[in-house]
Amino acid sequence: MHALVERLFPLCRSITGDGVRQTLEIIGGSLPLTVHEVPSGTAVFDWTVPREWNIRDAYIADATGRRVVDFADSNLHVVSYSVPVSATMTLDELRPHLHTLPEQPDLVPYRTSYYQPDWGFCLSQRTLDSLADGEYRVEIDSTLADGHLTYAEHVVPGRLSDEILISCHVCHPSLANDNLAAIAVATQLAARLAEAERRYTYRFLFMPGTIGSITWLARNAEAVERVRHGLVLACAGDRGSLTYKRSRRGDAGIDRAARYVLESSGRPHRIVDFSPYGYDERQFCSPGFNLGVGCLTRTPYAGYPEYHTSADNPDFVAPEAMADTLETVWEILGVLERDRTYVNLSPFGEPQLGKRGLYEALGGRSDTKQAQLAMLWVLNLSDGEHSLLDVAERSGLPFAAVAGAAAALSDAGLLKE
Ligand code: ZN
Repeated sequence: MHALVERLFPLCRSITGDGVRQTLEIIGGSLPLTVHEVPSGTAVFDWTVPREWNIRDAYIADATGRRVVDFADSNLHVVSYSVPVSATMTLDELRPHLHTLPEQPDLVPYRTSYYQPDWGFCLSQRTLDSLADGEYRVEIDSTLADGHLTYAEHVVPGRLSDEILISCHVCHPSLANDNLAAIAVATQLAARLAEAERRYTYRFLFMPGTIGSITWLARNAEAVERVRHGLVLACAGDRGSLTYKRSRRGDAGIDRAARYVLESSGRPHRIVDFSPYGYDERQFCSPGFNLGVGCLTRTPYAGYPEYHTSADNPDFVAPEAMADTLETVWEILGVLERDRTYVNLSPFGEPQLGKRGLYEALGGRSDTKQAQLAMLWVLNLSDGEHSLLDVAERSGLPFAAVAGAAAALSDAGLLKE
């Protein structure tokens, strides 16, 4: 995963353009992707697919011709979606177009101007302070022209047509945690799911933020109908603990599964309520859709000083943190896969487990007591109203023990789904 982050890092991504295409091409090397190209000007709900932006070079050069700010050093140096510029101007004329972080004087900020024609450069305060008055050559060799918005899908079919969405944004340039770590986790997750026994169908979406998810939602009314659960992945690789943001519904299946997995892990974590600010859960949870889609991050957006700066580089992303995010998503999906609701077919008094061999089946196991208790709980709560996750929560038993008990009882003809 970390190697993928490093490989994708130098590409100049934005909400459209060749950086997104190259990114999808690299992801496509390990995962078959269906890439969609949606023409500029296409109406998608209340939005319009913008013109496509591409950039080849950009710099600010001093009177001696020395490049004091150079896109070739970092793509963060140019405000994303900058219109082309070729001019000579004084530092004072240039100043309104320069963005710095005075509080973090060594870092370069990340800025965009997608929907307002503008141009600008981002640089460290340190660099700005070092610039002498005088004339500067300013070049931005970019194009903003009719083209396409690019996004990709990857589907892992399951036994059911019901779908679980996994989505991440691919629109940030050289930012490792806010973008690339989630892409790497999603890519690895898809590969792992392909090898696993699956009930649900999984749809992975690699899309530019906001306009990408709005475009996907506008073009996929049928697929939207099949979405049962979903997870937006972002900021998946910093060393902070996990944060799960609930769906707008608050008690959707994904909300309950995520809470259960995080709480039963016994590790530090945060669970926060939905708010209409953040990543693409904003679109999936808009009132017209109100999907059961939550958002899993480590430290949430804007919650770490490296956020949206040049310090969000591959070193900021830890392989162990990405692995931990992956394992947690895997556990959450495991709960969703196995959670279902049963009816006890012998509800008048406890059924006799011994004569069905259910006690012998447990003999010799180190967790006999727990497994036996799990059977009693599943039998008692399986009235068609309680799912296995309800049983796990109420009994305090591990979900795996509850699901295992349900499987044994089902095999013995005592439960019906
Ligand atoms: Zn961001």
